[in-house]
Amino acid sequence: MQFNQEMKKSINLKKLSKDPSCLSDYDPNAMDFEKAQLYLEQFLTPVTAVEKLPIQDALGRVIAKDIKSSINVPNYDNSAMDGYAIGLNQNQLTFKVIGSIFAGSTTLQKIKPGQAMQIMTGGRIPKGCDAVIPIELLNEHDGLITIDELPKKYANIRNIGEDVKKGEVILKQGHFIRPAEVGLLASLGLAHINVFKKLTVVFFSSGDEVISVGMPIKIGQVYDSNRYSIRAMLSRLNVDFIDFKNVIDDKTVIKKTLLKAASKADLIITSGGVSVGKADYMKEVLAEIGEVLFWKLSIKPGRPLAYGKIKQAHYFGLPGNPVSAMVTFYQIVQPAIKKIMGQTNYHLPPCFQAKCSTSIKKRPGRMEFQRGVLIKKNDEWIVNPTPHQGSGILSSMTQANCFIVLNKNDSFVEKGSTVNVQIMDGII
Ligand code: AMP
Ligand code: MG
Repeated sequence: MQFNQEMKKSINLKKLSKDPSCLSDYDPNAMDFEKAQLYLEQFLTPVTAVEKLPIQDALGRVIAKDIKSSINVPNYDNSAMDGYAIGLNQNQLTFKVIGSIFAGSTTLQKIKPGQAMQIMTGGRIPKGCDAVIPIELLNEHDGLITIDELPKKYANIRNIGEDVKKGEVILKQGHFIRPAEVGLLASLGLAHINVFKKLTVVFFSSGDEVISVGMPIKIGQVYDSNRYSIRAMLSRLNVDFIDFKNVIDDKTVIKKTLLKAASKADLIITSGGVSVGKADYMKEVLAEIGEVLFWKLSIKPGRPLAYGKIKQAHYFGLPGNPVSAMVTFYQIVQPAIKKIMGQTNYHLPPCFQAKCSTSIKKRPGRMEFQRGVLIKKNDEWIVNPTPHQGSGILSSMTQANCFIVLNKNDSFVEKGSTVNVQIMDGII
């Protein structure tokens, strides 16, 4: 499915929330994974606020303005090897050594045909030099050097601007900053750069049965694991976050908390209360104070998943089940956060095929993200689904190192057949 201009015009969250039938094929209560991604694309507006940072503090941030280099890198022709710079003289293989050049010397030396100068890696190439001969490939004797064969023209010479050309846009707006980018920025001599401001994310849990760690637990209660896993997942994303703790299943309190969150946050993440139970109030409250794009996705785990807006803040309502909360965070919320952070072209790690060690029961209808353990056996990648796949089995997430991604229309998977796996390492 593609959004044509006409559809784009009609995609307005307010309108969609009030009248879901205004767009054919749109069902907020049963949306495909791919369709949810497409819709989100339309609504996730990237931040615009910019700040200037020293490059050493810019790791994990996003470039806010194209970066043009004001210099060539390297800014002089230089030697790629320790050896001798030579001036070719027809087919002659012996050269007279007339001096040496160290890295760091800024003087431009000169050699004539038939002459050589010893040169260190990074040393400035003398005028008249045709190639650099590595020390290992020559003989030194009586102030002369001899080589066995003629080198290729300009062998072992690194040219001015071969890495970055003066005036070139070397990093574009929306580029995510990894260690390599920090190094590249330093190679341009830049001490500071403009990056997008950090997002502020408010998150909280909801549920009367949910209690904080450190408290004694009564039968019928659960410790609040989601708030900690969500916090930990956010920590990896370089955002500022505020923990609003756990909120009881009370409509008024939920409403007050969401409004307070919206006044502070670019993004609000909640867990629990988006399902169809009697005490699941998120839906009612959202209908009053915000607009919602979808409530349910056709995925497993994680069917109850809401996205909408409360005032200017984006809102994700994750399911309460701990595995569902993590899976939906990684598969939907994390790419969304990347987009809002201003990063362009973020993709989850691609899937690759592995042999499944057991059969998997699946009914067509929902895309599934099962937890698996990927191992290499005799040059072949084998995936073992973790024994318990329930959406409450958080230990399946700690055992797993990959998701087994089963398509919506897939049915029973035979033992020994190939399945798509997505390694977790690239995600978390
Ligand atoms: P809900 O989505 O509110 O219907 O909750 C679904 C299941 O997830 C219930 O069994 C809850 O007890 C559990 N649950 C909800 N919130 C949390 C949480 N913060 N930490 C751990 N489990 C939770
Ligand atoms: Mg609940």
